[in-house]
Amino acid sequence: MTRSTVALVGIGKIALDQHVPALAASPDWELAATVSRKGEVPGIPAYTDFATFLAERPEVTMVSLCLPPVPRFTYAEAALRAGRHVMLEKPPGATLAEVHELTRLARDRGLTLCATWHSRMAHAVAPAKAWLADKTVQQAHITWREDVRKWHPGQDWVFEPGGMGVFDPGINALSILTEILPRPVHLTGARLEFPANRQTPIAAQLTFSGDVTADFDWRQQGPQTWDITVRTDRGELALRTGGNVLEIDGKPAAGKATIMGEYPALYARMADLVRAGECEVDLAPMVHVADALTLGRRVVVEPFDF
Ligand code: NAP
Repeated sequence: MTRSTVALVGIGKIALDQHVPALAASPDWELAATVSRKGEVPGIPAYTDFATFLAERPEVTMVSLCLPPVPRFTYAEAALRAGRHVMLEKPPGATLAEVHELTRLARDRGLTLCATWHSRMAHAVAPAKAWLADKTVQQAHITWREDVRKWHPGQDWVFEPGGMGVFDPGINALSILTEILPRPVHLTGARLEFPANRQTPIAAQLTFSGDVTADFDWRQQGPQTWDITVRTDRGELALRTGGNVLEIDGKPAAGKATIMGEYPALYARMADLVRAGECEVDLAPMVHVADALTLGRRVVVEPFDF
C-alpha cells in the first residue's frame, strides 16, 4: 500500500520523542520533509522556511504542526491556503477564535483539519467512557501533578502569554474528562497560582458543576501523578497513569501503564479522517481552560526559574 506523505513542522521535544517514532512505524504516512529553524531528522529533507517548503514540495499532502501554540496559527493558515491537510498538536491554538477560523478555512477547501488530543488515545480512555455511559456521575476529581523541569526543560514559552502554564499538561486531563463524562460540566471557579516572575500559572485548582474538581501542579518532584477518579451511582472508577490504566472499585479493569500507543493512534485517526474527507476539531478541553483564565482568582507565588 502506498503511504501518503507528511511534513513535520517544529522539530523539538514532542516531534522527536513521539511523532518521528510514530511515523517511522506508520502504515499510512511517510515522513517526507521537516520544517524547523534549527531542528532536523537524520535522512529527511529539511527546510528552515515554511513558504519555501510549500512552494518546493507540492506533493506533500499533509503537515503535522508540533510548534508551541502561539506561532502555530500562521503555519496552519498557510498550509490550508496551500491545499494541505493539517494535524495540530494540543492545544490546537493560542485562542479559540483562531481555531474556529482554521476550521472554516479547512471546510471551505474540502481539507482535513484535526485538532489532536493525544491523551484521549490512552489505553483506558475508551473503556472508561463505555463504563460511565449508563451511570450517573456523583463526583469526580482530577489530580495532575508533574515536574515542569522534566517535561518542558528550559521551555520559557510555557510561561509566556499563550503558553498556558500548568494548563499545558492540565488540558490533557480535561481532554480525557470531556471525552468520558456522559454529560458535560462547566467551570464555576478557579484559583490560579502565578510565579511572581511569570505570565502563566504554575498551579491551578478548578471547580466545575456536578461536584467535579481538579488539582493541577507543575512543581511535583519524584513520582508524577496523572489520575482521574469518578464516583457514580453504581461504583467508583479510577483512571491512572494519564488515562492508561482503568480501575473499577479499586480493581484493575483495563489498560496498561505505557503511553507509546497514543501517537500511532493519532496518525491512524488522521489517515481515517483524510480518507473520509472530514475535520475533527473538538474545543471542549480548551473552553474549560479559557473559562478558568476568565474566572480564575490570581494568587502570586514564589518566582520560578528552570
Ligand atoms: P518545543 O520543543 O519547545 O518546541 C518545538 C519546536 O517548535 C522547537 O524546537 C522550535 O524549533 C519550534 N518553535 C518554537 N518556538 C517557535 C516560534 N516562535 N516560531 C517558530 N517555531 C518555533 O515544544 P514541545 O515540547 O515539542 O511542544 C510543542 C507542542 O507539543 C506544544 O503544544 C505541547 O503542548 C505539545 N506537547 C508537548 C509534550 C512534551 O512532553 N513536551 C507532550 C505532548 C504534547 P526550531 O527552533 O527548530 O524552529
